[in-house]
Amino acid sequence: MFEAPILDPMRLCRLGDAVEGNCLPGDLTLLQDELRDLAGEVHYRIAGGFSDGQKPLLTVCITGHVSLTCQRCLEKMRFDLDIQTHLVLVPDETALPALDEEKEGWDVIVRPERLSVVALVQEEILLALPVAPMHADKGCGAAKLMETDKAAHPFAVLRKLT
Ligand SMILES: [Zn+2]
Repeated sequence: MFEAPILDPMRLCRLGDAVEGNCLPGDLTLLQDELRDLAGEVHYRIAGGFSDGQKPLLTVCITGHVSLTCQRCLEKMRFDLDIQTHLVLVPDETALPALDEEKEGWDVIVRPERLSVVALVQEEILLALPVAPMHADKGCGAAKLMETDKAAHPFAVLRKLT
């Protein structure tokens, strides 16, 4: 069972501490609409510390895999998670950077008093999921179907031309 600790993010940063654990896709209730089934596993690690600019920083790493539906062949596809995000914690909204100053893989957020690990993990996974997940061509049922078609009717195109 997924233990969902509630963190004091500032304390984690001050102590340079980290929390980590595993959860199952079934524990991630916000993701249920996106998931094909409950296959897969998720490992998370949230480490506190400070950025180069001495700002409190959480480094979030999420690995594992979940099961999505390929939008081309509608079959199941495994989606590997390899997320690394840095969350810089600022005291209030006035300290947030302009949108165009944001760096890939870095987010600046107003620091919450308490942070739910499961909420954070779900949010990061949601951001990482493709809008239209698709198998790579080779593994896709739709591509295989097309190939079989071609093989079965090598002259289909020619016939159409005559
Ligand atoms: Zn597919």
